[in-house]
Amino acid sequence: ENSIREELIESIRTIPDYPSKGILFRDITTLLKDAKAFRRAVDALVQPYAGSKIDQIAGIEARGFILGGAVAHQLSAGFVPVRKKGKLPAATVEQEYELEYGSDVIEMHRDAIQSGEKVILVDDLIATGGTADAAVHLLRNVGADIVAACFIIDLPDLGGRAKLEKLDVPVRTLVEFP
Ligand code: AMP
Repeated sequence: ENSIREELIESIRTIPDYPSKGILFRDITTLLKDAKAFRRAVDALVQPYAGSKIDQIAGIEARGFILGGAVAHQLSAGFVPVRKKGKLPAATVEQEYELEYGSDVIEMHRDAIQSGEKVILVDDLIATGGTADAAVHLLRNVGADIVAACFIIDLPDLGGRAKLEKLDVPVRTLVEFP
């Protein structure tokens, strides 16, 4: 467990001052191109849910699509994209959320989830939790039963995990960066 964690941490590249000054960007493209690390990350993420019946994986654009697709395959679940506004072709439901400056909107197809379906939310990283919190509202508005929210990386100082746990969403993460 600890050695997997170390291997994953080593496979993640950190880029200072991207996309803006003072941000340490945690780049998972280096993890994804490392076949062993990619497999280990997906296996570790799904491990608690291996026996349970999960209907859908909801992946957040864009890195949540890559991970979510692999997680869906592993759990024999479907995949549902949660996207930035204006990208999905059919009728959507939307949710606004606050950013540091201003706000943004995410969308999902209105018919993507049937009421009562068991859903796991997936993204690469949770920071403030604003994006995941909006996705939780979107999913619950169409009747999803959210089993968990899974991320490779947690930035615990930014409070995202606590925000989701307050909504009674169990959070699974693999590595933390201070
Ligand atoms: P938040 O809504 O604050 O939890 O931000 C989460 C979203 O922003 C995720 O989709 C992440 O991919 C991205 N993100 C936020 N902070 C970082 C960071 N330091 N490094 C890489 N991605 C980040």
